[in-house]
Amino acid sequence: MPQYDFRCKNCKTKFALFYKTYSAYDSATPQCPNCGHTDLSRLITSVAINKPGRDYSKMSSNEMLSVLESGDSRQVGEMFEQVGGGDPALGAQYHDTTKKLLDGQSMNKVESDLQKSQKTNKPTKNS
Ligand SMILES: [Zn+2]
Repeated sequence: MPQYDFRCKNCKTKFALFYKTYSAYDSATPQCPNCGHTDLSRLITSVAINKPGRDYSKMSSNEMLSVLESGDSRQVGEMFEQVGGGDPALGAQYHDTTKKLLDGQSMNKVESDLQKSQKTNKPTKNS
């Protein structure tokens, strides 16, 4: 569940709001619970996407979701690499996808490639 932290510009109250989805946040007008003002500054607390040397393997699933939501293919690729890059059991497709992301290919392209290959790739036997 996305959490957003705000500070009211009127009374300086700090508060957090929770939304069920990111789109719910997009359509909502956050309001100060203390004075009712809607003039708020958003505090960035949870996800600092560009922090170098980030250890994705210790990230919570919520943080991983934030990286995915960012649509930054290189960040997502790094996350894939760190989480499963050393695990051959995840299969060639996982590592292929990781490589494409690290190459900077767009999330949309990589995703549609994946969907295509899932439709067409039937298990084949080399006999
Ligand atoms: Zn206020």
